[in-house]
Amino acid sequence: MNESTDLGDASFPEPVLRLRKGHIPDPAEQENHASDQSSEQGPLLVEPTTSSQNEKHSNKDDGNSPTQEDEGFMARLPLLQAHHAMERMEEFVFKVWEGRWRVIPFDVLPDWLKDNDYLLHGHRPPMPSFRACFKSIFRIHTETGNIWTHLLGCVFFLCLGIFYMFRPNMTFVAPLQEKVVVGVFFLGAILCLSFSWLFHTVYCHSEGVSRVFSKLDYSGIALLIMGSFVPWLYYSFYCNPQPYFIYLIVICVLGIAAIIVSQWDRFATPQYRGFRAGVFLALGLSGVIPTLHFVITEGLLKAATMGQIGWLALMACLYITGAALYAARIPERFFPGKCDIWFHSHQLFHVFVVAGAFVHFHGVSNLQEFRFTVGGGCSEDEML
Ligand SMILES: [Zn+2]
Repeated sequence: MNESTDLGDASFPEPVLRLRKGHIPDPAEQENHASDQSSEQGPLLVEPTTSSQNEKHSNKDDGNSPTQEDEGFMARLPLLQAHHAMERMEEFVFKVWEGRWRVIPFDVLPDWLKDNDYLLHGHRPPMPSFRACFKSIFRIHTETGNIWTHLLGCVFFLCLGIFYMFRPNMTFVAPLQEKVVVGVFFLGAILCLSFSWLFHTVYCHSEGVSRVFSKLDYSGIALLIMGSFVPWLYYSFYCNPQPYFIYLIVICVLGIAAIIVSQWDRFATPQYRGFRAGVFLALGLSGVIPTLHFVITEGLLKAATMGQIGWLALMACLYITGAALYAARIPERFFPGKCDIWFHSHQLFHVFVVAGAFVHFHGVSNLQEFRFTVGGGCSEDEML
């Protein structure tokens, strides 16, 4: 269920944000805002049925009439109002901490939370509390699907990785070496998915936290791609270590370059959505070169059988589809406001990433089985 409610006029986040950053409001401006402060903050919070704090504040609200003759008081009024606003801010943070907040529409989000303007309702408000952010995992809003798709994916790959590491050594040609190269893939996948669900969880905390975690999230994608190359190159060039090491170095250099680019602050902005998709797509598609190398040296038949090219192609299709949906914001661009909670492009992209990583693991498992079947030797006789 979409929890979004009719929030009416909500010019709320801006004043709260300025206050949170320690800004003392301009007295004239403050006077204009003072009268409707309660309507500004009200829509975000679930009104408690009984609250001694509210009573406390409502008593203070009537305080501006009886002593207005006093000129000294008039002079202190702006300060008192600023203090009052701070008290309200503290109350708001306290309520957020307790989990009493409501989802808000896109147009009242602060700029740093505005990412996809096709998602009209159901956004979390800025919540400067990690406890509140983590509790929001269990609430319904625009990030719920993004968090759970990669949280469950992360648990799945963690279990799969542990299971793989405990497979009997007798099913490998070189157990330690093979478990290390496949382990690098699992590490990349688990880091990518962990950084991703953590980013989506704390994204609404504050501008600074969102920026740090978005950089981790993008770095995680590069780590997944780099980690995916390791076992695939190892098995594909098992009998030809020179290209294996060259391609390994190349993908590490490209992956590190992608991580460096993703540390750039503007990389995370909505305007660079297409560029982001392009960077990671290019990193993944750099795998076309070693694939062509394999096809040319081994022939198409061997590439399709022992090279597991079919699974690699399926993986590439999944990643490309996911990146295309992400960059073009499909389907929400065709149904603005209809995919706010479920089935928006970022969620679909997450599902395609998990599916792509699993298909890659399946292809690598087949490569490993083939290597075990033919034994560790590399002469033509042994391979037949
Ligand atoms: Zn994501």
